Amino acid sequence: MIALVLVAQIIGASANTPAPTFIVVRDGQLTTSVPVTINNGEPSVRADVLMKAMKGMLITSTNLHFTLALPRARMDLIDGIPFAKLDTLTVPLTRAPQVRGGQLYLPFQFVSEVIPRYGGGYSYDIAQGELRTSAPNSVVSAPAPRITPSPSVASAPAPRVSPSAAQPPVRKPPVTKPPARKLVVIDAGHGGPDRGMTGPIGTAPWFTEKDVTLSVAMKLATVLRARGVDVLMTRTSDTLIALSDRGRIANSNHGDVFISIHCNAPGSNTAAGAREHGFETYFLAEAKTEDERRVQDMENESVKFETGANASKGDPLSFIITDMAQNEHLRESSDLAQTIQQGLIDVHPGPNRGVQQANFAVLRGSYMPAVLIEIGFGSNQSEATYLSDQSNQRALARNIAESIVAYLAHYESRIGGAR
Ligand SMILES: [Zn+2]
Repeated sequence: MIALVLVAQIIGASANTPAPTFIVVRDGQLTTSVPVTINNGEPSVRADVLMKAMKGMLITSTNLHFTLALPRARMDLIDGIPFAKLDTLTVPLTRAPQVRGGQLYLPFQFVSEVIPRYGGGYSYDIAQGELRTSAPNSVVSAPAPRITPSPSVASAPAPRVSPSAAQPPVRKPPVTKPPARKLVVIDAGHGGPDRGMTGPIGTAPWFTEKDVTLSVAMKLATVLRARGVDVLMTRTSDTLIALSDRGRIANSNHGDVFISIHCNAPGSNTAAGAREHGFETYFLAEAKTEDERRVQDMENESVKFETGANASKGDPLSFIITDMAQNEHLRESSDLAQTIQQGLIDVHPGPNRGVQQANFAVLRGSYMPAVLIEIGFGSNQSEATYLSDQSNQRALARNIAESIVAYLAHYESRIGGAR
């Protein structure tokens, strides 16, 4: 990576820690220069250059989300947002990281304060302008990095820290928790004045989404409890729970998984719309297709029934932090959605409309793997009949419960039961 073409300047006195024109990343005898550039009068470093020098990696996700994957730490960032997310910790930054010319720039404070404090074994020497590795690379008990450094970086000679610079590595005892019962939060979509969709199309409406979602949710809870899983329901009666509160309920009770159950309806009440049927499972992400956006907007409509008292205040900061926390669970949510959708093929007449992604308000507030299941179209005459049948509801509930149990077992084995 050729980065020295960047113009480096002396910084003004505005930063907390004076920044040099470049910093040296030192790992024993191996040193790498990383230029410090001035953008809008503020010193900053290019994230990809810094990560390479530190044997880490910059991961670019959608929505201007970035992850700095260091050998022993991960930090999530969003372009223009002055916060870094580290596991459960949200660290305020003096300046927001910014994308310019297609590159992510980190405020200099990242080098001088954030990485030394949270990066997993680095110190910053202000006098020398040096960022040093201060812990051996082979910390066995450290969590396995999910991303390996690029081969060119990994194959570089890596002499160990010289005795004078070495500090005893900080070895935190591994955080272990006795194997706990799992808690599944079940959210019956809609409720109270928010009836959800009604159907079927072309008849006097006799199918009401809020009733069917509650009925299936109750049956799902019964099966899960019988399988030894703890269950928390966001509602057990015909009441309105604000979308933002549904996630909050899940979080404050430390749920392991969040399942929201809904019934689908097409975009228009046409004859073609009436024929739409099948099941789909959503996980949280930006909606990618027109159809995903339609379902997203339909389910987010519930917000209009919420009073100011329990609706989200729309505080931008809380949204950002929520967004970042959920981002960590994207992969798990996607896996869970996949497991549930695959399972339903065995019991649901179909068709299988696949795993979808959308930005549901109800999923947004939950800090855990979260999915939304559209168990079928209440707008379709025969599917409305199918979904209203108690034994069919039991079969769906049993099937979804099996998928959740399988997912939890798989998840447990993947993370070694350490969480
Ligand atoms: Zn719904």
